[in-house]
Amino acid sequence: MKPKVIVHGGAGEIPDEHINNHIIGCETAINIAWEILNEGGDATSAVEAAIKHLEDIPEFDAGKGSFLNTEGFVEMDAMIMNGKDLNIGSVAGITRVKNPIQLAKQIMQNNEHNMLFGTAALNFARLKHLEERDPEWFVTEYTHKIWNTNQTDSNMYGTVGCVALDSYGDLCAGTSTGGTKNQQPGRIGDSPLVGCGAYADNLTAGVSSTGNGEDIMKVVLSKLAADLTAIEESAQDASKEAINIFQERTDSQAGLIMIDSQGEISCSYNTPRMSRAWINEKGQIESRV
Ligand code: ASP
Repeated sequence: MKPKVIVHGGAGEIPDEHINNHIIGCETAINIAWEILNEGGDATSAVEAAIKHLEDIPEFDAGKGSFLNTEGFVEMDAMIMNGKDLNIGSVAGITRVKNPIQLAKQIMQNNEHNMLFGTAALNFARLKHLEERDPEWFVTEYTHKIWNTNQTDSNMYGTVGCVALDSYGDLCAGTSTGGTKNQQPGRIGDSPLVGCGAYADNLTAGVSSTGNGEDIMKVVLSKLAADLTAIEESAQDASKEAINIFQERTDSQAGLIMIDSQGEISCSYNTPRMSRAWINEKGQIESRV
């Protein structure tokens, strides 16, 4: 089967001055994932590597550069799901692990549980020798500048995600985030919740969602989009219908990327912008904001 891959860097009011970094970030992440898939690597490895790369770019709201909570430190959420066996790895409220997506993958592959937070998550990361940083390391000049200002959540964006289909026909989806600006300490968003921030099932689709987490949870957006592939004519129709339903039921803002079981790539959002990149039918990188 021909591999497919798409990444996103969040949906929202991405300002003009951030567009370039979003495009470069998404395109380099796609390159990394594509190389893995082309060499016969599996979808899980491609998703993990692409998201790790995006977490390391400070302009995205994931890993270093995550938005700060009201107390001035980051609490990151991430999840990954495998469409072949429906296995899930998920983490919430991560404060020290450099790449939460790596911890999520370790949980998916090597832990009897699906989701860890707090001390259990940190202990498991240490057991797996994952890189750690002090909480201050995650703070950037920009996130500190906007911390505790009265800016509304309308310009929240920068969560990252990836969906891949490998040459063995297996789908994987992942999402990683620093949550929302000035969130309460202890808030857990949609991103680590199965079916909300991401979902993958070889029988339907792989999906990664981003946007207002409290509202994404209400319609279980990623699972909704994946299920709609069974009744809609194309992946693009299913993505669009999921966002339509989300908007009708919550009057809120979100976006999603999807690859269905046939390998059709799609993206839909009701925000002003959503950054994303993918490999087109000719094997070339395309990106949009
Ligand atoms: N969905 C994320 C959250 O609510 C934020 C985002 O996607 O921008 O934590």
